[in-house]
Amino acid sequence: MNWLQTFFDIVLPDTCVLCNRSQTQRSPHLLCPYCWAALPRNVSACTHCGIPQPTPGACGACLQVPFAEICVAALRHEGDARTLVHQLKYTRNLRAATPLTHAMLQAIELKYAQSSLPEVLLPVPLSWRRQVQRGHNQAAWLAYRLGQHLQLPVLYDPIKRRHGPAQQTLSRSQRLKLSKSAFVLSAPLAARHVAVVDDVLTTGATVRALSELLTGAGVERVDVWSATRAMPS
Ligand SMILES: [Zn+2]
Ligand SMILES: [Zn+2]
Repeated sequence: MNWLQTFFDIVLPDTCVLCNRSQTQRSPHLLCPYCWAALPRNVSACTHCGIPQPTPGACGACLQVPFAEICVAALRHEGDARTLVHQLKYTRNLRAATPLTHAMLQAIELKYAQSSLPEVLLPVPLSWRRQVQRGHNQAAWLAYRLGQHLQLPVLYDPIKRRHGPAQQTLSRSQRLKLSKSAFVLSAPLAARHVAVVDDVLTTGATVRALSELLTGAGVERVDVWSATRAMPS
């Protein structure tokens, strides 16, 4: 199906991924100008955890313990941004990764104006069982596209995830209990500065567990890059 879609992308006039309006000129992000401008950008957010707030800077929790040195959470997880994530995650519409990637690139450019980019990208892994069920890992796909644009290596293999209940079936307290034992480092990591890439950041428990594992293995800095930021319920 995806190859068929790629074929149509090449031979047919370009259409907006969200509203299907045809475009005379192909935009790099595959959205029409209206849909691209209307994406709910997460411009006013905590530097360290991406939680939307009235002013930029650190939120109360990150003033105590910063979630990450830099957290890129490009869009708020609502409206069209949520639609794109769902298309990528559940219907395997890989075209939806393109606008998400471009929104992330915009945010990355702003966030890293004063800081060096990470050495490698690490997508949040799915358990092998979930990956077989879903057919692909949406975080790995986003990391792949970001790696291409930024010319950064992407490491797909060093971390394995143990199979457990799907995140959305867990309560907030259950999610927060997710510990680093959910992941296993199966290969040594030489990088000192990495970015963990995911599609949606909610409680941050998954990423925190990964960060603990990575810092325990000698990584000095773990940044977090997510396409969207959901408000923890
Ligand atoms: Zn559109
Ligand atoms: Zn914060």
